[in-house]
Amino acid sequence: MKVSENSVVTLDFTVTNTNGDILDSTEGKQPLEYLHGTGYLVAGLEVVLNDKVVGEDFDVTLSPEQAYGERDDGLVQSVPGELFDGMEVAEGDTFVAETDDGHRPVTIVEVAEEYVKVDGNHPLAGMTLTFKGVVREVREATEEELAHGHVHGEDGHDDHDHDHDHSGGCCGHKH
Ligand code: ZN
Repeated sequence: MKVSENSVVTLDFTVTNTNGDILDSTEGKQPLEYLHGTGYLVAGLEVVLNDKVVGEDFDVTLSPEQAYGERDDGLVQSVPGELFDGMEVAEGDTFVAETDDGHRPVTIVEVAEEYVKVDGNHPLAGMTLTFKGVVREVREATEEELAHGHVHGEDGHDDHDHDHDHSGGCCGHKH
């Protein structure tokens, strides 16, 4: 079957920047399994994967707009250090912040006495990125997966590390 809206796709892939540095890769790790058409992948990559079949490879270079967007300097903010009271924070740490737009990854760029400077841009924002890889598997999503908007493991519940908050097992919640 072909990759299409609401199919579950398993990929091996590597992401590189314009210098050829590897920024992310499934090599030596679990392949990525995701629900196609939900915006899980960056927009430009979903387009490229449409209609591919198992065994087909891809090699595409995406502008920031097609990938993680341009950097927004407005997302770099200094916040009072007391917000981090009791937490060990260091430059380069990342954490997930709750914002009006939902959960977003935030990187600590500077720790000063009175304030902590944080950057809410995606770490790959503003970059032209090359995605190379191969489609390993394509299957229909189950009704439950469609209802939840994400992939479940083979045994019927989430066994992945989700970026979003599914602590306690998302399949316990009712839709
Ligand atoms: Zn779920």
